[in-house]
Amino acid sequence: MAKDAPLYLKPRVEPPLASLLGEVRFLHSLVDTLGSPLNVLLPEVVAGNAEHFRSVYVRHRLCGRVYFAHKANRSSALVRRLAACDPAVVGIDVASLGELRHALSCGFTGDRMMATGPKDPQFLWLAARVGATVNLDSVGELRQLAELVREHGLGRTRVLARLSGLESDTGFEGAGTRLLSRGSRFGTPVAAAEALWSALEEHADAVELVGLAYHLDTTGLEEKVRALERCVLLMDECRARGLTPGVVDIGGGFGVGYVAEAAEWERWTTALSEAVLGIRPPLTWRGHGYGLRGEGGTVRGTAALYPAHRSVAGPAYLDALLSRPAPALGRSPATLLLEHLNDLYIEPGRALVDQCGVSLARVLEVRPTGDAPDRYLVRLGMNAGDVSLEEHGVLVDPVLLPRDGARDESNGAGPVGVHLVGNLCLEADLITRRLVYLPRLPSSGDVLAFVNTAGYAMDFHAHQAQRQPLARTVAVTEEDGIWRWCLDEDYWPLTNPQGRPT
Ligand SMILES: *Cc1c(COP(=O)(O)O)cnc(C)c1O
Repeated sequence: MAKDAPLYLKPRVEPPLASLLGEVRFLHSLVDTLGSPLNVLLPEVVAGNAEHFRSVYVRHRLCGRVYFAHKANRSSALVRRLAACDPAVVGIDVASLGELRHALSCGFTGDRMMATGPKDPQFLWLAARVGATVNLDSVGELRQLAELVREHGLGRTRVLARLSGLESDTGFEGAGTRLLSRGSRFGTPVAAAEALWSALEEHADAVELVGLAYHLDTTGLEEKVRALERCVLLMDECRARGLTPGVVDIGGGFGVGYVAEAAEWERWTTALSEAVLGIRPPLTWRGHGYGLRGEGGTVRGTAALYPAHRSVAGPAYLDALLSRPAPALGRSPATLLLEHLNDLYIEPGRALVDQCGVSLARVLEVRPTGDAPDRYLVRLGMNAGDVSLEEHGVLVDPVLLPRDGARDESNGAGPVGVHLVGNLCLEADLITRRLVYLPRLPSSGDVLAFVNTAGYAMDFHAHQAQRQPLARTVAVTEEDGIWRWCLDEDYWPLTNPQGRPT
């Protein structure tokens, strides 16, 4: 392939998101009305994703709940839609007092909630008060909770004990596997489990151990299988001491595929290596290497990139994890869970909001970069905080929604490489450091749609620097080919929100 051929990273777009992107006039009218940037969410999709996770449980004959990791998105519409799902199947993982209050106001009851993350006394008190399960980070947190429960006469609180270091292979077969995970500062190190069991026994009047938990920030299936098996074995250890845990909570991290075609991702990453070696022109703003650098003709460093193409992600990843033989006992985690009569909890964030949202931005200005021929700067009505996938990976190609509603292929004849820059007076305010190829040069007034941004990208890092507007968020629903919208805070999971006579 010619070295100057466009290197696309076309997004994975599935229905109904695909048909929403075809509603060019509708999306333009939303941006006209509500401004740029604008977040658009599809609450029905989150319910469908929860159902896909549930079907994996059914296939493996497992019981337990899917807890949405709220931190992935602040939306009310998504949380309300999930609250309307089967209470036996769908819960919510809240990681702050604010998230807990929000989930309560969206219709989740305390018994469907799990409190994770760092906890202040107010968060612990409200969690215990409403009967949430507390995912304990340390022995210190356990003591603090037990004291609160006794002092305020709160009911005996259900707790999970979060462990860390389960994925390392010390003491198990299959030694020598390279660890992909970076370890965790959360949870009690498994080496200190004895002290944790003792503390749980000591405070058994105030807390009830319902299970063990972990969350591994890795894509490595092998480490996750090892951790799951180890957890099942540790549960037996707890039972031998008279504790009665019955749940393994394996956290989140099931992943999302952002790029549609594996070949495009391979081509782009190969080209990135060639570019840092200087054997092809830079693919990025000022030769940024995403962690790679060229030294004396070889590539050094490691690409700090989320794998944008995933052949197995989300519910399929859970399925693979449950099916793969575990190292010590040689049986699959699903079989182990069944044999030991354990329920399974998961806490998907990113994967549960897959295909649930797009971020829209108006094109404000288009001009040549001046330093390379046929390269343009495209300035958008948004900034890097409004679509922050670049924290871990690269932003995939946005979809061009022309102002006139039709795809005008005549303008400028064919693909063009552009740098997407934001609305801040800051050199570093790039929407992506990648040179993005668009099918044609956009014009001011066009809209770019960044696809699949509901997980961490659309509001996690948003800020109001320079008093630029925060994106508003709308929820959209489709019925008989007609799309309707409302503000995120006005969405309720009703089939007849206007209360029309039926
Ligand atoms: C962030 C987080 C999750 C969700 O992770 P995803 O990668 O979004 O699935 C789940 N559990 C805990 C404890 C977390 O911190």
